[in-house]
Amino acid sequence: MEHIIHRVWRRPFTHFPRTLILPKRNHSGRAEHTPCTPSARPKPALLMSRLYQSSNLCDVGQDGRLSAEMTCKSQRLMQQAGLIHPSNPGCYYYLPATVRSMEKLVRVIDQEMQGIGGQKLDMPSLCSADLWRLTGRWDLMGKELFRLTDRHGGDYCLGPTHEEAVTTLVTHQIFSYKQLPLLLYQITRKFRDEPKPKFGLLRGREFYMKDMYSFDVSEEAAHQTYESVCQAYKQLFARLGLPCVQVQADTGNIGGTLSHEFQLPADAGEDRLLLCGNCSFSANVETVSSDGTDCPQCKTGTLVESKGIEVGHTFYLSKKYSEIFKAEFRDAQNKIVVTEMGCYGLGVTRILAAAIEVMSTEEEIRWPGLIAPYQVCVIPPKKGSKVDEGTALGEELVHALGETLPHMKGEVVFDDRTQMTIGKRLKDASKLGYPYVIVVGQGALEETPKFEVICQQTGETVFLSKDGLLDLLGRVETV
Ligand SMILES: [Zn+2]
Repeated sequence: MEHIIHRVWRRPFTHFPRTLILPKRNHSGRAEHTPCTPSARPKPALLMSRLYQSSNLCDVGQDGRLSAEMTCKSQRLMQQAGLIHPSNPGCYYYLPATVRSMEKLVRVIDQEMQGIGGQKLDMPSLCSADLWRLTGRWDLMGKELFRLTDRHGGDYCLGPTHEEAVTTLVTHQIFSYKQLPLLLYQITRKFRDEPKPKFGLLRGREFYMKDMYSFDVSEEAAHQTYESVCQAYKQLFARLGLPCVQVQADTGNIGGTLSHEFQLPADAGEDRLLLCGNCSFSANVETVSSDGTDCPQCKTGTLVESKGIEVGHTFYLSKKYSEIFKAEFRDAQNKIVVTEMGCYGLGVTRILAAAIEVMSTEEEIRWPGLIAPYQVCVIPPKKGSKVDEGTALGEELVHALGETLPHMKGEVVFDDRTQMTIGKRLKDASKLGYPYVIVVGQGALEETPKFEVICQQTGETVFLSKDGLLDLLGRVETV
């Protein structure tokens, strides 16, 4: 069977059409470099007219059927821009630009998780009911679980979280205390049968989540690990420029004794938070028992209510799962001891949508610069205009960017729809929120060519020479 699949699938790849997006490859598999002469100037690699996105730029709001379902800004903007496309309730196609952004976000998360010793793995989405019955969650989770039965009558669920799976995995080995802490994480699709999926990627039934699980030798060590994960989360959100707050939270059906949520304050948020204006106290309303507005921590401040989008959650689990599955280690006296666990989630697709929700205007998408799908859009003049020859300069510029700034490789889109005015294309670029838009206009034809650079994050416009531009973009962080 495997052999047949191999034969069937292999053929199309050997005859795969070469497109402008794929560099031509020689027999050694390396990309060929075409010498750069005026007559054989390479075309910019990423042409707007070829990207599966721009043709979707339309006013979805005019479609009555769709606008009725548009429940928040990020959903509307992402659908209008062709970043996502709805399939069935709570499920979306993630279109190419979204996948680029998500892959960047995943790289940033990897950096932060591996920075505190996290090791990445990948666990099955099909989870056996037997494991979930052992912890009692097969019944406890109720209708939230997507359940299915295989041909042998075995019950399974599509994993919404993996405490059972990861704990049973590590049970296969008794650790030495010297091997702990152990931090395992994955970034995979999760499933939850939401009663009312809404808000686009903010509350879907199928979504990407980073879930990490820690195993420690003692409660004290587990608390240290817990704190290091919280610090890594704070650093992650700081790098993304998202003003998240860490709030006390309820442990829900995950269990455990200590829990925090990382909340991004936003009107579209479904969680109600209480923040103290005087000290660092912040909590989910669910966890605050007093009805008053006085801060329980500093006693002098007043609690102010705010709405938030939950983008991360941390739990100290103690031995809730490790005891059931016998996840154990040998201590210094060679005694077998049950490990202390923690689990830590980040809503990957939710962070993406939440960032768009809080950073964008009603009409224009803004991204955390680090994870924007593309960093730069170059807009050459309209075909047949007085400054038509600027197009060649624009192409040269894109080429120079690629040659001089390796970190900008694949980050520069050339808007070759030259039948359209600069103004119209500029409007599209503003809607999509490239951090930098470069207009090749009149100034580019002067003796010392100047390019108009619009920094969408700050709204500033500057005129820069090619060197000035290279200097500016050379300092942009990409991931
Ligand atoms: Zn306070």
